[in-house]
Amino acid sequence: MYLLHLTNFDHQFPQDQMLQIYGETMAGLGIMVDEQKNISIDSEPRPCKNPRAFCTPICIRDDIRFVIRPTGGQSDYQAFLHESGHAQHYGWASPALPPEFKYTGDYALTETYAFLFNHLISDSNWLASFPGIKNSVEFTRSVMLARLVTVRRYVAKLMYERQLHLGDDLSASAARFADLQTSATCFRTDPSYFLFDLDDSFYSASYLRAWAFEVSLREYLKTRFGSHWWASRRTGDFLKEIWETGDRYSADEMAAQIGIGPIRFDPLIDEFVAALK
Ligand SMILES: [Zn+2]
Repeated sequence: MYLLHLTNFDHQFPQDQMLQIYGETMAGLGIMVDEQKNISIDSEPRPCKNPRAFCTPICIRDDIRFVIRPTGGQSDYQAFLHESGHAQHYGWASPALPPEFKYTGDYALTETYAFLFNHLISDSNWLASFPGIKNSVEFTRSVMLARLVTVRRYVAKLMYERQLHLGDDLSASAARFADLQTSATCFRTDPSYFLFDLDDSFYSASYLRAWAFEVSLREYLKTRFGSHWWASRRTGDFLKEIWETGDRYSADEMAAQIGIGPIRFDPLIDEFVAALK
């Protein structure tokens, strides 16, 4: 966890600028966050508040809660940007959608929008424009390495969870969990976490599909709206148009509708190879 937090870069991501950077980034897309009465941000630093950011769509689209306890640092920025993608997705969903297309969709779709904003952290142009980091080569390589560890961790989680749920015999599960995680991440993993480090409903598969879809979606936005896609109102209009459909479509259906489907893993692999070679 210490490695993944990349704490040596934390001074470049001050706590007190996070909300302002969020507002400015969204303004580039033509989204004025101060006027979004349906998305409320709770950034109060209450003593027992969990520092992990989260977004809860209580009532789509009228009441979207976005909860953070800004502590600063790059991992906090990433979490904040990630949750802002969820908040905007739910915040622009059409109120006319039936509940099943608001609350019970394919999680890979909302995670794709979350990663789209999350991954601004590895966009050197965005880093230069907003946190004002002019030379981000070392930082973006580090972020991509940490992201690769995370993606490989989730591949191992999915492989493990598929086997775990096949039967009732848990005798080999702890060792299998540790072996899969250790070989995927190159960090020795404690077998005792084998029933703790789990996500319901194969959420790990939703994350993996979202990581893959997000790379293709981002490339599509760059091709259509330019490398500074996040500073284009036309991008904002396009995103609002697809967000309007809420969870009407699965991630694969949305990729096909945009014209970049089916979801493929090659672009994700190629991105890691290019960033880390
Ligand atoms: Zn998420």
